[in-house]
Amino acid sequence: MKIFLIVIDGMGDQPVPELGGKTPLEAAFKPNLDTMASHGICGLVNPFLAPGEDKATSEGAHIGLFGYQDYFLGRGPYEATGLGMKLKNGDVALRANFASVNSEMEIIDRRAGRIEKTEKLIDSLNNIKIDGVKFLIKKALGHRAVLVLRPKKGLELSANISKGDPKRVGEKPLEIKPMDETAEAAFTAKTLNAYLNKAHQILKDHIVNQKRICKGEVSANYLLTRGAGQLKSVPSFKERYGLKAACVAGGGLYRGIAEILGMKLVSVRGATARTDTNLKGKISASIKALKKYDFVFCHIKAADSLAEDGKFAEKKKFIEKIDENLFPLLGLKNVLTLITGDHNTSCVLKSHCNDPVPFLLWGGGWDKKVLFFSEKECVKGSMGRFNQEELLRKVLVLKNN
Ligand SMILES: [Zn+2]
Repeated sequence: MKIFLIVIDGMGDQPVPELGGKTPLEAAFKPNLDTMASHGICGLVNPFLAPGEDKATSEGAHIGLFGYQDYFLGRGPYEATGLGMKLKNGDVALRANFASVNSEMEIIDRRAGRIEKTEKLIDSLNNIKIDGVKFLIKKALGHRAVLVLRPKKGLELSANISKGDPKRVGEKPLEIKPMDETAEAAFTAKTLNAYLNKAHQILKDHIVNQKRICKGEVSANYLLTRGAGQLKSVPSFKERYGLKAACVAGGGLYRGIAEILGMKLVSVRGATARTDTNLKGKISASIKALKKYDFVFCHIKAADSLAEDGKFAEKKKFIEKIDENLFPLLGLKNVLTLITGDHNTSCVLKSHCNDPVPFLLWGGGWDKKVLFFSEKECVKGSMGRFNQEELLRKVLVLKNN
């Protein structure tokens, strides 16, 4: 039997007053999800919190879902890999934002006016070497970028360093500090501070910024960093579970996680990670991939983004749109389908939350406990409630029975 995992990012939610106290999942018309839940097996999982996290993140929760909690690398390496950077073991990767600071070095805009065209700025910051460390930088969406520190042979770095982004306008960028006593962390922090200062010197006089200032726009003159992580060797999905795995996802982070776990990336035209994503194409590409692979992971992003913006009506509508495209699953043979979220995202709080995440299993039995698919109804499911990092192992037991 094959396994088909569909992650609807941030699917679960909290009661929304405007939806009559229902969550978007409860309020949505979703006959296919309800059929699979009421004729399948359900339960709830506690989202995995990675070391240092007090709120569930997408990267942590996916690592939990895949049962790789002992190999959590931090966000940077997943983002960098998702952007197509080929990291080497020992590289430290971070997320970076172009930001704007004034002459007093106070942040006046954390996103540099949401600058889009950063290509020339990035060119001027790439391949700089400081004390045996090469700095590689790549453009991400909008004002974002990914920064990679590659040590020369024999040199060791550490990702146990603090962030540079104080997350508040009017404050100065934070100095990067080592978070432990090791020489590697001290060296990495010192070298990164030197690079960030150098980058500021290059950016503040850059022609792109001179032109922006002439047009009355803010200067993209500083890089704020966060999410440091170090690539190390990770056992592949095949090595860990004996399963040949593939991934269908539009979002870079999810593609990056999948690639680091050794999954084959399947490209789908129009897979955007937004509400306009090609759901039909993603589901049919996943079903096709199930012929060749033992495990297919399909990621659908926009439910989370809508909830983070408080758009409960749009989230409900998007869940309905997903449901319409799940009809082909009802007829799948020899496939155990697992549908869940990574974490819940609350439209009311406009943020992720640590509430238990509902899941349904279709094609592996019928527990006759649940009438429809929702956060509350899944409490009745026969699998009960447990930690997210145990889910895949439990599904594998079911698959082999
Ligand atoms: Zn997520």
